[in-house]
Amino acid sequence: MNCARARSLFDAEMDRELSGAGRNRLLRHLDGCRTCAGEMRRLRRAMETLRKSSLVPPAADACARLHEDMRKESPALPEVLDLDGLADWLRLPARELEPFLDQIPAFEIAGRLRFRRSSVEKWIEERERAYAEGRRTRRMRLEAV
Ligand SMILES: [Zn+2]
Repeated sequence: MNCARARSLFDAEMDRELSGAGRNRLLRHLDGCRTCAGEMRRLRRAMETLRKSSLVPPAADACARLHEDMRKESPALPEVLDLDGLADWLRLPARELEPFLDQIPAFEIAGRLRFRRSSVEKWIEERERAYAEGRRTRRMRLEAV
């Protein structure tokens, strides 16, 4: 499960609507992903505060709305990403990123692979240039025909 999918399940989990395999997959993701676990914790705390501070029970969609607000004001992306975070940032499933792991700038710490966002941004810029160059070459070739 990737971060985007995990986060789309937060509201259902908060409303205790998840069960069985789906919930297990979410909990496994939360075990391995500190970013999502932190967001889930913040959401739980916010809901708790809301419950305690209001005399009437929160509206049915209160959790979804809270989560939406949190997403809007969520802190900037961390400068160092793990593989899941990188995949999330690049809008790709992590397994599709794996073949590129020997190209993407990374460093290893405590036996784990980490990615500095600014380095990956430079790498993306190189790819953009290469892609634009390739497009130009293809166009020239077409025009020459
Ligand atoms: Zn995650």
